[in-house]
Amino acid sequence: MAECIFCDIVAGNIPSEKVYEDDEVLAFNDIHAQAPTHVLVIPKKHIASARELGEKDAALLGKIFAAINRIAQEKGLMEKGFRIVNNCGKDGGQTVHHIHFHLLGGRHLTWPPG
Ligand code: 5GP
Ligand code: ZN
Repeated sequence: MAECIFCDIVAGNIPSEKVYEDDEVLAFNDIHAQAPTHVLVIPKKHIASARELGEKDAALLGKIFAAINRIAQEKGLMEKGFRIVNNCGKDGGQTVHHIHFHLLGGRHLTWPPG
């Protein structure tokens, strides 16, 4: 087992409901779904948070957002819309320290968050 639960999901040590996978990106259903669609989209490579991102990650981020759009399309979210969330650090509400983008949709989402 790795020290990071999402690295363990990438490695297959922890089961997940996968919705998309390629060589660099994995997407799976959140275990505590907050909306009819609640998918976590992650790089397979361990990056702790958005604070570590820079220009070097442009191609990887492009792949992540292409995956998000592909999943949104497959889930029928394109017309009504959806939300992409990245929680960063303690005040941002990040609890798993392997960067992930929440894709939420299938119901009306209120704004602003608490
Ligand atoms: P954060 O609060 O860090 O932005 O989001 C972490 C998310 O990971 C939470 O929504 C939580 O439900 C989800 N999560 C935590 N552990 C697991 C797990 O083992 N499997 C899955 N599928 N989701 C998890
Ligand atoms: Zn990790």
